[in-house]
Amino acid sequence: MARSTQVLLYLLSAAIAARCMKMELDESLNSKDNISWPQNDSRRAHVRRNRDISTTEMKEKMCNSTECMISANRIINSMDSSVDPCEDFFQFACGGFIKDSSVNHWHQRKILELDSINVLVLERLLKLLVGDSKKYPFLQKAREKYRNCTTIIHPHFCLKGAKKSDAWLLGVAYAREYPETADEFRRLWIIVDTVYLEFRDMVAKSTWMDEESIKRSIIKAAKLDIALGYDPYILKKHRFRFKILNMLNPLLSAPVHWPEYAIIFLPLTQMNPPIYKLGHEVLEYGAMGAIFAHELTHSYTMFDYDGDGKKNFIWSPNTISAFYERVGCFVAQYNEEFRNFIEIRKDEIERINSTRNVFENIADSSGLRAAFRTFKWKENTIWTLKGLEDFSPEQLFFLAHANLHCTKEMPHVTEETILKNKRTPFRFRVNVPMKNMDEFAKAWHCPLGSNMNPVKKCVIW
Ligand SMILES: [Zn+2]
Repeated sequence: MARSTQVLLYLLSAAIAARCMKMELDESLNSKDNISWPQNDSRRAHVRRNRDISTTEMKEKMCNSTECMISANRIINSMDSSVDPCEDFFQFACGGFIKDSSVNHWHQRKILELDSINVLVLERLLKLLVGDSKKYPFLQKAREKYRNCTTIIHPHFCLKGAKKSDAWLLGVAYAREYPETADEFRRLWIIVDTVYLEFRDMVAKSTWMDEESIKRSIIKAAKLDIALGYDPYILKKHRFRFKILNMLNPLLSAPVHWPEYAIIFLPLTQMNPPIYKLGHEVLEYGAMGAIFAHELTHSYTMFDYDGDGKKNFIWSPNTISAFYERVGCFVAQYNEEFRNFIEIRKDEIERINSTRNVFENIADSSGLRAAFRTFKWKENTIWTLKGLEDFSPEQLFFLAHANLHCTKEMPHVTEETILKNKRTPFRFRVNVPMKNMDEFAKAWHCPLGSNMNPVKKCVIW
């Protein structure tokens, strides 16, 4: 009897929670109705029509906006120009940041992108939790919990706790308080759509895939749902699927690709520097463009899921074996890079095995290449930034990308990460994809055979 009462109570409270969530959602969706939300197909058609843009006359301009100034300062301060970019681009782009940063003694590292975004998001959450109590009344419980939270470690722990336990409601309030402007949202769609089209062309032209596998991959990609920030179009579509709604929380701290739901989601937290709002598209393609293309690569390499999110092989056996040959190139390349890095624990290098993260590494390489090619065909103005006049737009693209992963990390931490095959340390996430690109070598005039322009390159798309 007690058990059935418990179950009944649980069901009742779940139903009430679901109902509340739906009401919040409805209200917040309606509040965004002043912006027109185009459907996937019309968005893509619009971009397609503008594709001839590169034939227009080239102009040279200095970007003087506040966002450009902030971006230029970040790039300059992060750099160590005494390093040769053809030898170690990570050190060249991030050496200044590494010199000026002290590491956090818990994590033993500091990441430019994560730190600047985390600080901004937590500051904004704090304002929501301690600010005007009449605003967003659905936050009442979260506010009470936050007021009662005390910790001797750091006040941020209470904030992080609130972010976790009241994730959805805080996400809704955050999205309403700090929405993207219509222009930011439109520009983002242009980045996403143009990268999508460029990637599709890269796949269509791939020499190692057979025609049928290419066709099926392209059909699959066309079915992808791409959710950006706090995207009412996708939220409305999945409004009764609470599992998906919870995953589409604007406060999520990283972009994701869910093959089983055929969704790529770039949360609202990502719409901040050094990923977005960088002042100019050269920088935004290098950062946000590459991040989106990374997620898109996952969708293409997961050939065991179809466009409806069902387990279904969409590539032929021949294409799959040609693919794994190329995967092998990446595994060998990263193993070699890691072996060369290890200094302290040389006797353990047998443990190195980059197989576990190879799909992440592939997504880094294909993603960066797709973003670069997209920016090349879109670019019709030679932009310069104050203090960076000597750098070409192509060079600025790579600098903006490196800024995402600028990290100060203790060498023993990097070694531990490598030896445990946990994830690819950031210095390799910057350098290796660039080593795989002829376009990088050309942009920085790196001689063939120099460290950043090796003769053997690994390419999938
Ligand atoms: Zn990934």
